[in-house]
Amino acid sequence: MIFYEEQQRYGVNRGRDMGIQMVGPLIIKFGTQAQKDYWLPRILTCEDIWCQGYSEPGAGSDLANLRTSAVIEGDEFVINGQKTWTTMAHDATHIFMLVRTDADAPRKQQGISFVLASVDQPGVEVRTITTLAGETEFCEVFFDNARTPRANLVGELNKGWSMAKALLSFERIFIGSPSLAQNALGQLETFARGRDCFSDAAFCDSFAELALDVEDHAALYARFADQLKRGETLGADVSMLKIWVTECYQRISELMIEAAGPDGGTVGPLQIGNISVDVLASFYKARPTTIYGGSNEIQRNILSKAVLGL
Ligand SMILES: Cc1cc2nc3c(=O)[nH]c(=O)nc-3n(C[C@H](O)[C@H](O)[C@H](O)COP(=O)(O)OP(=O)(O)OC[C@H]3O[C@@H](n4cnc5c(N)ncnc54)[C@H](O)[C@@H]3O)c2cc1C
Repeated sequence: MIFYEEQQRYGVNRGRDMGIQMVGPLIIKFGTQAQKDYWLPRILTCEDIWCQGYSEPGAGSDLANLRTSAVIEGDEFVINGQKTWTTMAHDATHIFMLVRTDADAPRKQQGISFVLASVDQPGVEVRTITTLAGETEFCEVFFDNARTPRANLVGELNKGWSMAKALLSFERIFIGSPSLAQNALGQLETFARGRDCFSDAAFCDSFAELALDVEDHAALYARFADQLKRGETLGADVSMLKIWVTECYQRISELMIEAAGPDGGTVGPLQIGNISVDVLASFYKARPTTIYGGSNEIQRNILSKAVLGL
């Protein structure tokens, strides 16, 4: 958390590695001493680059529906199945994944395990998916008798669901960081000044509303960040952060299109003085934020059940 806050203070882009944000904290919490000794230093040096293998074609919001199987053979798990929307899998060396280890468990949340596996092996095929913005940032990952040592099971066999949920709370605070909206707001301000939008009272109102929402969000985020720094477990209410920041980001990207006027549909960067801003790319990039890390509809369901008790 401190590392990312310092990066943001200097305006440095976040690495796309999910080691520090997700699997690292999980190994610290649930891993064996041998797992901590082996994996954690490699996360810090970026020797291993991690991706997250949760979603499957039939298991997104309904994650417990996942079907990728891992069968124990001697000292190894043999993995078969498919993951999808796996961000940066084509750049990753390793994948942390949820696999079904007991197909006969009475509830679908049971019989799931959390394992670590190498992406660079013959049984794994990674195919990139191109986004609307023309980028290849996520992938389909196919497992055909891929193998990983049994020692790469994190936590207990068939008890992966509770770890999956713990990891999601780490993911949600990182996705819920204010930097997403703060950077977009800064870009909007520069762009709007260059286009003289602040002479328009209606634009000023919209901008002020967004600026206040971003400030409010940053204050709320600080509360959760303090909880994490004190070593406390985050509650279900952390979902608020993700909903708020991603929806602010989308509204900022929409106002940017409005500020661009007739140029709002231009593909590629628009030049404003010394800077160039790609308003359409920013708009596209804001779209999936309400989907990844668990869609905002699902976050609202979580809040209504776990926080409001509805
Ligand atoms: C850019 C991006 C990166 C991603 N990266 C990763 C990654 O690295 N690793 C990974 O494992 N996954 C990743 N995902 C997948 C992401 O977690 C899923 O897309 C997400 O959980 C939604 O699942 P789905 O796409 O299957 O949609 P579905 O679950 O099919 O949902 C479709 C729509 O129905 C709504 N819906 C579904 N169920 C309910 C309900 N009960 N109540 C109300 N509304 C509901 C959803 O909100 C959504 O609008 C990524 C997704 C995106 C867009």
